Amino acid sequence: MTNSVSVIPIECKFGPISAFAYYVDAPEPAIIDTGVNVSALKDIEPTLAEHGIRIEDTRWILLTHGHVDHLGGAYGVWEKTGRQAKVVIPKKEARLLRDKNEQIVDYKSLQGKYITDPAIQEKHITMLTSDIGGTIEPNLEVVDGDSIHLGGDITLKVIETPGHSIGSVSFILDGLDWAFAADAVQMYGGFSGLPTIENPTLYRKSVSRLLEEIRPTRLFLGHPFRGINGDIQSAQIEGEQVAAVLQASLDMDAKLRDLVKRHLTNGLPAELHELYGPFGSIAEEIGYTGDPRNLPCAFFVTMNGYHEELIGSILNERRKI
Ligand SMILES: [Zn+2]
Repeated sequence: MTNSVSVIPIECKFGPISAFAYYVDAPEPAIIDTGVNVSALKDIEPTLAEHGIRIEDTRWILLTHGHVDHLGGAYGVWEKTGRQAKVVIPKKEARLLRDKNEQIVDYKSLQGKYITDPAIQEKHITMLTSDIGGTIEPNLEVVDGDSIHLGGDITLKVIETPGHSIGSVSFILDGLDWAFAADAVQMYGGFSGLPTIENPTLYRKSVSRLLEEIRPTRLFLGHPFRGINGDIQSAQIEGEQVAAVLQASLDMDAKLRDLVKRHLTNGLPAELHELYGPFGSIAEEIGYTGDPRNLPCAFFVTMNGYHEELIGSILNERRKI
C-alpha cells in the first residue's frame, strides 16, 4: 500500500501518431510500454533526462500487449540498462516479443486478410517489423492475479483486459487504484477515428470489469483517444472522468455492434469496395474515410472482430426462416 507515486507520461511520437509510455518512480523504477523502435532514444531517454532521471536506472520494462507501438522501443530501453532491466509481457502475447515473424502471422490473420494488393501487404510488413528494435526473451510472462513489486511498498497488480488484442493486460497500482490500461480502453477511437477491437466480446467484458469491479481512480491510456464529439482527449484521466470514459467506450461498442449487425442481417454488398473490401456499406454509413493502405488500420481489425462475433447467429437466424 502506498500513498503517492510519481508517474511521468512520455509521449512517443511517430508519423502523425503518438503512443504513451509511463515511467513509474519507485525503488526499482519501471517503464510501462515503450513506443516504437526510435522512441527509446528519441522520446523516452530525453523526457526522463528533463526530470533528472537516467534511463539506465530503469529496473522493469512492463508491456501491456504485443502491438509494435507498445513493445517496439523495449529493446532500446533494455540495451540502455545493459540488459539488466527485467522485461515483462502478458503470457498470451510473449511470442510477439520473441519473434518478429509472429507480428506477420497476426497481421495476415487480421487486417492483412482484407488487403489484396501484395505490394501493400509487403509495405505493411516492412513497417511493422522495422518498428521493433529487436527481439527479447522476456523474464516474466504474466497472467491475471500476478503482482510486480517495484520495491518499498509499491506493487502493480496484473489484470487481464483482453479485447483490443487477445492478450492485453492492465497494471493496477495497489493502494491507489491507478490503472495503466493502455489500449484496453479505446473510447471513440484514436487517430483513425474508429476503436481498434480485435474481439468485441472480450473487450466489452474487460471494460465492464474496469468500470464495475476495479473502479480505477486514474486511468493511463496508450494513446490520445477521441470523445463522443470526435475531439482528441488527454490519455491521462482522473476523477469522475474515469467512469465517463469507460462508459463512453461501452457506448461506442454497443453502437458499432448494432450497426454491423444491421448490415450483416441485410447482407453485405456483393461487390468488394476498392478500399474497404466487404465492408464498403458500413464505411459509407459511418462516414469512415481512413485509408487502410496506411497502417495502423483499425477499420479492418474492428470490422473483422464484429463480423466474427455476429455472423454465426445471423446465419442461424436465416436458416430458420
Ligand atoms: Zn494496441
